[in-house]
Amino acid sequence: MTLNLADIVLTYPDGDRTLTALNHVSLSVGPGEFAAVAGPSGSGKSSLLAVAATLITPDSGTVSIAGQDLSRAGQARRTKVRRDHVGVVFQQANLLPSLTALDQLLVMAHLAGESPRTASMRARELLHSVDLADKEHKHPHQLSGGERQRVNIARALMNSPEVLLVDEPTSALDHQRGEQIVSLLADLTRRNGLATVMVTHDLATLAMVDTVLTMSDGSLSEGAVTQAAGFA
Ligand code: ADP
Ligand code: MG
Repeated sequence: MTLNLADIVLTYPDGDRTLTALNHVSLSVGPGEFAAVAGPSGSGKSSLLAVAATLITPDSGTVSIAGQDLSRAGQARRTKVRRDHVGVVFQQANLLPSLTALDQLLVMAHLAGESPRTASMRARELLHSVDLADKEHKHPHQLSGGERQRVNIARALMNSPEVLLVDEPTSALDHQRGEQIVSLLADLTRRNGLATVMVTHDLATLAMVDTVLTMSDGSLSEGAVTQAAGFA
């Protein structure tokens, strides 16, 4: 498995008590597999992605990415594994206003120390794969919400990750554009053999994924919850 979370417990301090955000959660996603995590607001979905991205260290349990057990790894090794193997797409695009679409991607390669020539070829290929080849010189304010989210996704793929983690990518989009984004993620997952985990509140898009999981009060279970009430 490309991404393995085993028996993860994560708590946050909550006044003089603790809040259990992840309660013995296990999750395995293999290459080319598109998994979706649904569940109400506050159930622990973003916390799960933060642990998978090694941005937060859980109280207990193991995280392994691309065959490397990171449970006891130091900060430097976690940062390196994250940079080399993990792409993260946050809910908001977080693009830099002063940079063109192409440059948003090139910044990533620059940080990873890649040669400018290889990087620019790869960035153009990726913009093409998200159907933005003709928008490479546009700044974020010249792009629609859906286009910005596609730049965001292309940027997350810039360092050829094996694991792609996506937090509510459709929350700022109308239904049709949301479906297009999820369909694009499904396509990229299969074509690039990614292990993708997408957090979503949009039950209509679950038909496009391989595995549906539901988070409820910090516990993860298989299958979709049928009632849509309380989803956010
Ligand atoms: P979701 O993404 O499903 O809305 P989160 O993972 O963001 O859920 O949050 C799960 C629970 O943990 C919520 O009760 C939230 O208030 C709490 N929480 C999230 N982040 C923190 C934090 N940094 N400190 C304290 N509590 C947090
Ligand atoms: Mg969240």
